[in-house]
Amino acid sequence: MSCHNPCEKKALPIDYYGENVFNDKAMRQHLPKNVYKSLKQTIEKGEQLDPAIADVVASAIKDWAVSKGATHYTHVFYPLTDNSAEKHDSFLTPDGNGGAIAEFSGSNLVQGEADGSSLPSGGLRSTFEARGYTAWDITSPAYVIENAGGIVLCIPTLFLSWTGLALDKKTPLLRSNQAISKQAKRVLKLFGVETNLPIAANGGLEQEYFLVDRDYVMKRPDLLIAGRTLFGAKPPKGQEFEDQYYGVIPERVFAYMIEVEEELYKLGIPVKTRHNEVAPSQYEIAPLYEDANLATDHNQLIMTILRRVARKHNLVCILHEKPFQGVNGSGKHVNYSIGNKEVGNLFDPGETPHENAQFLVFLCSVIRAMHKYGAFLRATVASASNDFRLGAHEAPPAIMSLFLGDQLQEVLDQFRIGKVKGSRKKRMMNIGVDILPPIPADPGDRNRTSPFAFVGNRFEFRAVGSSQNPAGSIVALNTMVAESLDFSATFLERELQQNNCTLGSAVQKLVAYIVEEHSAVLFNGDGYSSVWHKEAERRKLPIHPYTPDALPAFTYPEVIDLCTRYNVLCREELRSRQEVYFEQYIKTTHTEAKLAIRMARTNIYPAVLRYQTELAKNFKVLGSIGVVNSDKLLKEVSELIIRLDTAVRELQTQVNFDPVDEKDRANAAKNAGFATNIQITEAEHCLHKIVPAMEELRSIVDTLEVMVAEDLWPFPSYQHMLFVK
Ligand code: ADP
Ligand code: MG
Repeated sequence: MSCHNPCEKKALPIDYYGENVFNDKAMRQHLPKNVYKSLKQTIEKGEQLDPAIADVVASAIKDWAVSKGATHYTHVFYPLTDNSAEKHDSFLTPDGNGGAIAEFSGSNLVQGEADGSSLPSGGLRSTFEARGYTAWDITSPAYVIENAGGIVLCIPTLFLSWTGLALDKKTPLLRSNQAISKQAKRVLKLFGVETNLPIAANGGLEQEYFLVDRDYVMKRPDLLIAGRTLFGAKPPKGQEFEDQYYGVIPERVFAYMIEVEEELYKLGIPVKTRHNEVAPSQYEIAPLYEDANLATDHNQLIMTILRRVARKHNLVCILHEKPFQGVNGSGKHVNYSIGNKEVGNLFDPGETPHENAQFLVFLCSVIRAMHKYGAFLRATVASASNDFRLGAHEAPPAIMSLFLGDQLQEVLDQFRIGKVKGSRKKRMMNIGVDILPPIPADPGDRNRTSPFAFVGNRFEFRAVGSSQNPAGSIVALNTMVAESLDFSATFLERELQQNNCTLGSAVQKLVAYIVEEHSAVLFNGDGYSSVWHKEAERRKLPIHPYTPDALPAFTYPEVIDLCTRYNVLCREELRSRQEVYFEQYIKTTHTEAKLAIRMARTNIYPAVLRYQTELAKNFKVLGSIGVVNSDKLLKEVSELIIRLDTAVRELQTQVNFDPVDEKDRANAAKNAGFATNIQITEAEHCLHKIVPAMEELRSIVDTLEVMVAEDLWPFPSYQHMLFVK
């Protein structure tokens, strides 16, 4: 009999890190030298795979995967939902003699067919040409996934229509990397910096999540189906003691985290940080930053594995942005920078005046981008679930502004007044250059209320929702910053050539110009305050608290112009995204409303009636023997029951109501503009009628929950779900 010995030495992460990835080490081991070299170059330069070596590479990957126990392979892709999609194919091929061999050709590796007709495409793929195809993203390595049921070779891919339109989230990300690479190189060239490697975005993605005991979740249809509680009274203790953040991690959770990390290490995902978050039962996992494309693929894997491992510990990992009312929701901070291993991080202020000047050009280009295209970035994080964070004055607000910190702000302000005189603050490096003010040596303060903050050598975009694929936001950032770098490069080139400026004074002019024109987007104060709301209005910043306000930005003329100009998304692709996201918003709201009605009618109403009957009987029986009891509670409960019934009916009425004109609906088939109008009308009905009706119903139910006998209440309460660990 073997029994687990706690002192037995466990394998260390450094021993098995990356063992399930066909990474550089595996390539070197399994590929002929010349093929390895060629493949390596292709990956570094982000080019197309040489068809001549595809078969050799495929065969090596297959042998490697089979040696790990894989029987199937799949092209993994990232459709416009926030999930990953996969279709498994067996390596098995009959050998013609009654037996079978494992086979996997170059074309199996490089391209696959995917009938994604049931995946949302926003009209990009009509049913008569429903098939799309998947194409290997060579910059994201293949890996094997170990499931209880079997082992599968996974190949990260793009997902396109036969006409080459992007049906996924990865394709635009790679395109936007190309855009930023080109424009960043133009700026760098002016500073005498050249590089042969592409410049790309880096992403450090912090992932927040909740863990709840599985037994409770099974008893809550709302958590099961909607991923959030539609009802639930706030517990007497929430997060107000601030005893949770960085608190000691409970043992079951700790065991869970260790297992998650083991899985992720095997997949070569550099998870680094784990801690308790602000709300009870809320946690965070953060890997080290990587190339943003890879980091995004890894984030999808992290979400998958967080969910899967939870099951083994009788937990459910909840990635919804706002599963519990009254405590913090979950986000996904996107730490964003650009660069490559030759030029380093282009948002790093550097140490010399020359580096400082280069930094200022990149910094100001981002400021300009945020000011011009903030609404586009905002639209990329719009969803029914994220509305509960962004629209509800919870971190961070829906107004896109940029936080620089007082010290950098001060540096930039000097450009505006045209007098550069250094800083009065002590912690400044004096770089002894006449025209450029010194850049602070350290990033200075932090501001948690800003959606987009400069944090020393990168920007942190905090509005992304915990369940979202961050690719959309990275695409927007890359594209809008590329356009700004294009502007800056052109500005500097003109100053240098036509006006014979020195580089220093050209930079001076550029910075002064951008600060003058685009400072409205800079805000260092409290992003949650109502004062900021008014101030943002005065500054004419777009204020889009909810999804129906935010999504139209995808087809603003300036956004279409931006995305087509840099070959990131064409008009049809933008429109399709807008359509899919509207549809998701409308469907989610309707599903939740129907679920709320079902729960109220079939679970809550009967429970409350039982309690009312108990009270009434008690009152009557006591009265009959001459004991006087107060009937206050009975009256209160009875009143609430009437209100409950009214609220359910009102919600049902709103769900049934069709806000769209019949004529418009007929026109929509012919005209995309009408189709969008219909969606806007439906989404606004959701926001202004259905959501408030759900809130009204919820407030009545939550009041009842704390009056009715606990043994009659049909659902586990917040105090159990959030505090049993
Ligand atoms: P905090 O919780 O204080 O925001 P964390 O250390 O939890 O910080 O997460 C910061 C994230 O930012 C990590 O993923 C880290 O690797 C990443 N990061 C650090 N430097 C960069 C950079 N230059 N570009 C992108 N991400 C970065
Ligand atoms: Mg952070």
